[in-house]
Amino acid sequence: MVTKRDYYEVLGVAWDASEQEVKRAYRRMAMKHHPDRNPDDATSEEKFKEAREAAEVLMDSHKRGAYDQFGHAGLEGQGFGGFGSIVKAFFGDIFSGGGGRGRSQVQRGSDLKYILDLDLEEAVRGTNPKIKTPTQVECHECRGSGAKKGTAPTVCVQCVGMGQVNARLGFFSIQQACPRCRGAGKMIAEPCRKCRGHGRVEQQKTLSVEVPPGVDTGDRIRFSGEGEAGANGGPAGDLYVQVNVRAHAIFTRKGKNLYCEVPVNLVDAVLGGEFQVPTLDGLINLKIPEEFRSGKLLRLRGKGVNVTQDRGGGIGDLYCRVVMEPPVKAGLVMSALAMTALVISALVITALIITGLVITVLSIIA
Ligand SMILES: [Zn+2]
Ligand SMILES: [Zn+2]
Repeated sequence: MVTKRDYYEVLGVAWDASEQEVKRAYRRMAMKHHPDRNPDDATSEEKFKEAREAAEVLMDSHKRGAYDQFGHAGLEGQGFGGFGSIVKAFFGDIFSGGGGRGRSQVQRGSDLKYILDLDLEEAVRGTNPKIKTPTQVECHECRGSGAKKGTAPTVCVQCVGMGQVNARLGFFSIQQACPRCRGAGKMIAEPCRKCRGHGRVEQQKTLSVEVPPGVDTGDRIRFSGEGEAGANGGPAGDLYVQVNVRAHAIFTRKGKNLYCEVPVNLVDAVLGGEFQVPTLDGLINLKIPEEFRSGKLLRLRGKGVNVTQDRGGGIGDLYCRVVMEPPVKAGLVMSALAMTALVISALVITALIITGLVITVLSIIA
């Protein structure tokens, strides 16, 4: 079974590398291994191709997402994963960390990433969701050999099971994947019907994730050995569950502190009443501060997020920005009030004058 190197490893970039970082890493590799700069050097050419393929996937958010979740299997049918390209992709591997290992030897599976979307409340209090992740498991039908039930793979006659052959390139003798068995070291005359000779099948797996209280976007929980299955009995990769906290309608979180805005009615502010402040535990009533002004930041101690020691520990605070209702609207309300008051007082005065006149007239008559 031939497997590909991890794309992140190929380009030497981190899991969360930005598109810019991927582009930079690719440019660096391309400059170094470009066929024009290394004529007649098959190793460089293949390294160049390998880097180009990795960059093509990692710079395309759709393909990258599929790769992160499903590994190389996620890209099958997207122009990758053909055997020809796999063999070529491995051609250049002999100068890398692998140190010329036979391709038929054990290979660790790729690490996978799962994005876990959480509400702020869940992230703050901790949660225990069940997630479904696709995984490649050994095919039961052929027990991973890839050969039809009742048959067994035969040792490749060209490389006698080594998976690699020596090739001469000018002065150099380099090892390359065996063209006959494509680096597997064995040949399958009749492939297994269930796994079509891959030796592995895809399966859904349910995992229970223990999310501790206080996590934030970007936090990762590692599940050792829950990633892509290894090849030829190699160990599985790891699964990284990466937390993504959804935006909250009211609160913004910065570290262990929470921030929110509370609109306060101008009339309430003038009268010095109470107003309601939202917290993660529900609404609480607060007295409007004496020197009230719009934009004043109120601090509610201990109403933030309880974070773990590696984030500094302790409970954060909630900061509430009190915002007076927009002045234009308030102004309109005021002028309407003033107008009403004016009209009413005018009416009262008129009534008083008329009453006074009537009384005067009556007293004159009397
Ligand atoms: Zn099978
Ligand atoms: Zn062979």
